[in-house]
Amino acid sequence: MLESQQTVPPAWMMVEADDGTAVLAAAKAQLDDGADFLKLYLDGPKKEEAPWPAKDVRAVVEMVHARGAKVTAHSGLLAGARVGVDAGVDSLEHGFELDADLTAQMARQGTFLVSTLAVFRSWATFSQTTTLPRFADDEGKERLVTRRERALESVRLAHRAGVRIATGTDFGGGSLRANQLAWEVESLVEAGLKPWEALASATTRGGELLGEPEAGRIVEGGPADFFLVHGDPLTEPAALWRVWKVAWR
Ligand SMILES: [Zn+2]
Repeated sequence: MLESQQTVPPAWMMVEADDGTAVLAAAKAQLDDGADFLKLYLDGPKKEEAPWPAKDVRAVVEMVHARGAKVTAHSGLLAGARVGVDAGVDSLEHGFELDADLTAQMARQGTFLVSTLAVFRSWATFSQTTTLPRFADDEGKERLVTRRERALESVRLAHRAGVRIATGTDFGGGSLRANQLAWEVESLVEAGLKPWEALASATTRGGELLGEPEAGRIVEGGPADFFLVHGDPLTEPAALWRVWKVAWR
């Protein structure tokens, strides 16, 4: 997301596909290489259109599911989100432009939303620490505020509709790093989740999405690594930053 086009991840991270046949072949090749979770990039190249129609994406989703893997969709824009949900992807990543119809459909189908709201908080800091125009000039700042507000609205709609929300950092594509998930928990609280719901998003919800029901739970004899914090993250998400002790199994 820090690439100059802002909507395209770095070239080394992706395989391009011109049509349904090509995207299906590319998806098979990824699974053959050992992938167990595929991400389809459903934004653009035209803003108002997903790159492939829902029937082509559905063929990929069915093939991936038949092989026991999962498939998610990068969704910054509404058009791609619609196609992804219609096609039955397991989750939408980002989901920055969801509307009420779509969040209702996601809730019905059990489609997860993996929110990455903290990316906007990260970008806001760049307006103070860099001179890059898209973060630092007035137009850039205004655009980011508008996008951030729209993204918060998306999460609010999803939460109200009962969509299961898991947290993401956009690590690898964006500006956060993997150990900054607390920032997302705080962002989800801003979007209307209770602190304990936001904490569940960063723990058990992620496990549900990945098909690892033990993930994010601390039970006697269970497999969890865990950390202790100063304070009570069930009521105060900022406590998650105050790591007191990390316990590895
Ligand atoms: Zn993405």
